[in-house]
Amino acid sequence: MALGRALSVAVTGVDGQLVEIEADIGQGLPSVNLVGLPDTALQESRNRVRSAVANTGEKWPDGRVILALSPATLPKVGSVYDLALAVSVLDASGAVPGERLAKTVLLGELALDGRVRRVRGVLPAVIAARTAGLPTVVVPAEAVAEAGLVEGIEVLGATSLRAVVTWLRGEGSLLEPDGIVPGAQAPSGDLSDVVGQDEARWALEVAAAGGHHLLLTGPPGIGKTMLAQRLPGLLPPLSEVESLEVTAIHSMAGSLSAEQPLITLAPFVAPHHSTSVTAMIGGGSGMARPGAVSRAHRGVLFLDECAEIGTKVLEALRTPLEEGEVRIARRDGVARYPARFQLMLAANPCPCAPARDVDCICAPLARRRYLGKLSGPLLDRIDIWVQMRGQAGATFGDEPAETSATVAARVAQARALAAQRWSADGWVTNAEVPGHILRQRFRLPRESIAPVETALRLGRMSARGADRAIRVAWTICDLRGGEVPSVQDVLSALNFRQRGAQ
Ligand SMILES: [Zn+2]
Repeated sequence: MALGRALSVAVTGVDGQLVEIEADIGQGLPSVNLVGLPDTALQESRNRVRSAVANTGEKWPDGRVILALSPATLPKVGSVYDLALAVSVLDASGAVPGERLAKTVLLGELALDGRVRRVRGVLPAVIAARTAGLPTVVVPAEAVAEAGLVEGIEVLGATSLRAVVTWLRGEGSLLEPDGIVPGAQAPSGDLSDVVGQDEARWALEVAAAGGHHLLLTGPPGIGKTMLAQRLPGLLPPLSEVESLEVTAIHSMAGSLSAEQPLITLAPFVAPHHSTSVTAMIGGGSGMARPGAVSRAHRGVLFLDECAEIGTKVLEALRTPLEEGEVRIARRDGVARYPARFQLMLAANPCPCAPARDVDCICAPLARRRYLGKLSGPLLDRIDIWVQMRGQAGATFGDEPAETSATVAARVAQARALAAQRWSADGWVTNAEVPGHILRQRFRLPRESIAPVETALRLGRMSARGADRAIRVAWTICDLRGGEVPSVQDVLSALNFRQRGAQ
């Protein structure tokens, strides 16, 4: 009996765990068994592995081959283990030496002819290999740039099983990642493209500075989408840690490009209003894919025509909004994806979506109900609501609109003030601060808080609405470089809410 061994990684959500593969060649009729593996995808990989080995010019052992993956409780879905399965068999038959193999994690699907194919989730898998203390990881050549983002582990890319075997024998080399030049992405569009709409522009700046969720309503064609697309360009670039975290999610989504493997700017994700719960939240057969809410992690989730979104999808947004995370139950465990995003909603005021309010042909009830369906799950979370109107016409001769860079600089200063204020408690933006902190430890001066107390006393505002107004007031204060929100800051914040329905 001969034993072989190779290492790979199982990825669930964005969490990876080392998997040990053992190949056991024994007496008996030629056969291949994969032990304890219910997943049909893995049974299929048995055929790919066998064919790839034969087409690489290596001998598939006679006799009975048993392949076992451990630990047994891990999710073993997917084709990522092909390369390690093949090499473990070659190790068992003595075809490859063990020195390099013992210290190397192998990731990749095999084509029948022995080519190594790209798999999803290479980045989180490489991070897991590093965490497990392994010095080297071999990945599909197409994913070498993505894998090379992880420091502290040697990353090598392979185009074929043949190349891996040759390298293990010390006879050839594998691809090394080129130096990555991050930060080359450009945000889509500049704020100076947006004509007029001063109030909505100001709302966008406040939302960016405080991390507030934002709703724009108004007739079609007045720039709601243009404004939304420009929100990421006002947000600070991602830190190194955030970059890797966001890139790992997009690695699982299979949405990274080989040329631009590292995501360094806040992502912008805009699912269509007809999107399914699975596409929004994540899931699907096989390896659970991250949904729109997770691809928008540390960035912006833009829901255009949000009143048209199905009730089930709206309800499903509740958990990520509350917990900043999505957990997808799988047959073999739970996939976890971060989902902490800034929500930006846009809606027409009514179903007929007229260019001018006076042209509306909707029944009054239909008009009221239209945005009403948002109220439970979403409107409760909205800090800033702007009702946009059609432009009276661009006024030429006005000063040119400010650029994204100018506004982003103010946003960065305001964010720095907020981060400093909350640093001891671990919050970064005003939007994250719990209501009781705002009401007690950071209570506003009596004259500043007076308008909020009046609104509460008159029943024009809920307690949660009051907390939201105070958060926005802090952001407005930070934007002007103040120390404590003034009554004017509070009134401006209230203004963002009171013209919408309560
Ligand atoms: Zn209408």
